[in-house]
Amino acid sequence: MNTSGIGYDIHRFAEGRPLVLGGVRIPHDRGLLGHSDADVLTHAVADALLGAVGERDIGHHFPDTSEANRGINSLEILARARELLESRGGRINNIDVTLIAEEPKIGPHHGAIRSSLAATLGLPVERVGLKATTNEGLGTLGRGEGIAALAIASVELP
Ligand code: MG
Repeated sequence: MNTSGIGYDIHRFAEGRPLVLGGVRIPHDRGLLGHSDADVLTHAVADALLGAVGERDIGHHFPDTSEANRGINSLEILARARELLESRGGRINNIDVTLIAEEPKIGPHHGAIRSSLAATLGLPVERVGLKATTNEGLGTLGRGEGIAALAIASVELP
């Protein structure tokens, strides 16, 4: 049976934080605020995977009240979401992600982010879609106050 799941996440920018997207450190003057490394892109993908197998969200599985999750590398969260999916006999067909941000430009990091996600998910890079768009100056994202991500996952279940 083929299933699919969606994921959405948003994090605000903060001074003095590293910017990590898809497990890749991106040079930028600000990073994202969060209990973990605030990797908004990876969080959206993890939620999509969990959704595809009918699981609850990453906030449930990796609560931000847990000291164990403080500063956690979000690729670890993604790997655990994959393990959970595979423990149900699931196999990921593909994932697709859209980042929404006024800055920074993702183009120079596109290959690195895609490879990082593909490696963590055990997928060929062709099965990892990654696009970015701005919010055309509209609203919170348009003012450059943070970054949002949308993800979808297609999964084959027994
Ligand atoms: Mg998040």
